[in-house]
Amino acid sequence: MSDKNLTAILYKKGEIRLEDQPVPEPTPGNVQVCMQKVGICGSDVHYWQHGSIGDFIVKAPMVLGHEASGVISKVGQGVTDLKIGDRVAIEPGVPCRLCKYCKTGRYNLCLDMKFCATPPIHGNLARYYTHAADFCFKMPDHVSFEEGALFEPLSVAIHACRRAGVTLGSKVLICGAGPIGLVNLLTAKATGASEVCITDIDQKRLDIAKELGADYTLLVKSRDAKEVAEQLEDMMGEKAEITIECSGAAPSVQTAIYATQSGGCVMLVGLGQAEVTLPIVNAAVREVDIRGLFRYANCYPTALSMVASGKVDVKPLITHRFNLEETLQAFETTARGEGIKVMINCGRS
Ligand code: NAD
Ligand code: ZN
Repeated sequence: MSDKNLTAILYKKGEIRLEDQPVPEPTPGNVQVCMQKVGICGSDVHYWQHGSIGDFIVKAPMVLGHEASGVISKVGQGVTDLKIGDRVAIEPGVPCRLCKYCKTGRYNLCLDMKFCATPPIHGNLARYYTHAADFCFKMPDHVSFEEGALFEPLSVAIHACRRAGVTLGSKVLICGAGPIGLVNLLTAKATGASEVCITDIDQKRLDIAKELGADYTLLVKSRDAKEVAEQLEDMMGEKAEITIECSGAAPSVQTAIYATQSGGCVMLVGLGQAEVTLPIVNAAVREVDIRGLFRYANCYPTALSMVASGKVDVKPLITHRFNLEETLQAFETTARGEGIKVMINCGRS
């Protein structure tokens, strides 16, 4: 089998195949990217294990992968800002650019969003892939392809810290120390948060958080949300001004509310059960704002400048590396919850 464009395709729940696909040609306004690095995200693994996330159901074979970087190998008609050889990070969601959400800058809410590896849209875990040129961000030479792939989760954190109002001196609680909780930790710190506390039910993840600069860590052992909130308050000396919930676990969302100061904000990043019972009156009478979050908008340029300037170091998040041919092993490793970020090299090994 030739592998000119070896591609990782999810055929259906539980079935990933590596197949050679035609090399795609860039249409006007698009570029062809010779893919370099693609990080595996929990959602990729979820589609593989369950075949769906909420209303997004894998009904036809879909290429996986959306945390990606590569080198421009061809440019489509009308592309002037990028040229062959440019190293780029790929923002995976391309919106319609015309609707009211797009026009007001909240393009992550576009109803016509085409997001890599969200059915039925193909992702970019392949040797070659084409993408809208204006959603490819040119990186300076000293920013690595792995860092470029990590702009994706980093953008989620930038959006979360912005929407939550993290600023100089903020006291922040982060619930869940998975990849998303950890990029929120890095971003909150870089934004000027004076104290960041992070929770998890897994001590290994808290140890990593500590190395990444967490001021406090709490190993959650109880499902009693009030009890955990009290432990957090004891630890931090007061309730958090801002809580960024990154586990999606129901008891943790409840803790997030109890552990936040009156007048503060709970940012819901984690997506777990569709319906959760919350201490809503407690939040209401203390004016704790509960805010939703969906991916990001206008965050890639910030991710790029934060990484390029050295203000945020995402490299320690990468714990495992595989070649494209080893995609299945990479997914199995991620599914076992080993390490933090699993990175796939899409170049020829
Ligand atoms: P992950 O599963 O690796 O991390 C979740 C962490 O939460 C784990 O380390 C787990 O041990 C911990 N946890 C579980 N129960 C807990 C509890 N009761 N208290 C504290 N910690 C607990 O996932 P991830 O890749 O880091 O993503 C985190 C969440 O963010 C997921 O729910 C994901 O779907 C969501 N997400 C949302 C968006 C968005 O746009 N809103 C974007 C990306 C990811
Ligand atoms: Zn739109």
